[in-house]
Amino acid sequence: MAEKSSFYRHKKSCQFCSNEVTEIDYKDVKLLSHFITERGKMVPSRVSATCAKHQRSLSKAIKRARFLALLPFVAD
Ligand SMILES: [Zn+2]
Repeated sequence: MAEKSSFYRHKKSCQFCSNEVTEIDYKDVKLLSHFITERGKMVPSRVSATCAKHQRSLSKAIKRARFLALLPFVAD
């Protein structure tokens, strides 16, 4: 248990939480592009250090941006 708590202490904090962002703007392609890979895949939250709440919001924003052709769909 002690090891587990030290792991959480070293975790990076969510950038949306630290910037007090409540709603992620799907039109902000520049921001969203930081959270997708070159192939259009979403960067996992453990890599981007985004919390579960904002990861959900981010995924919604990315899906919407894709639908509106602001972002590419996943190229497999
Ligand atoms: Zn957050």
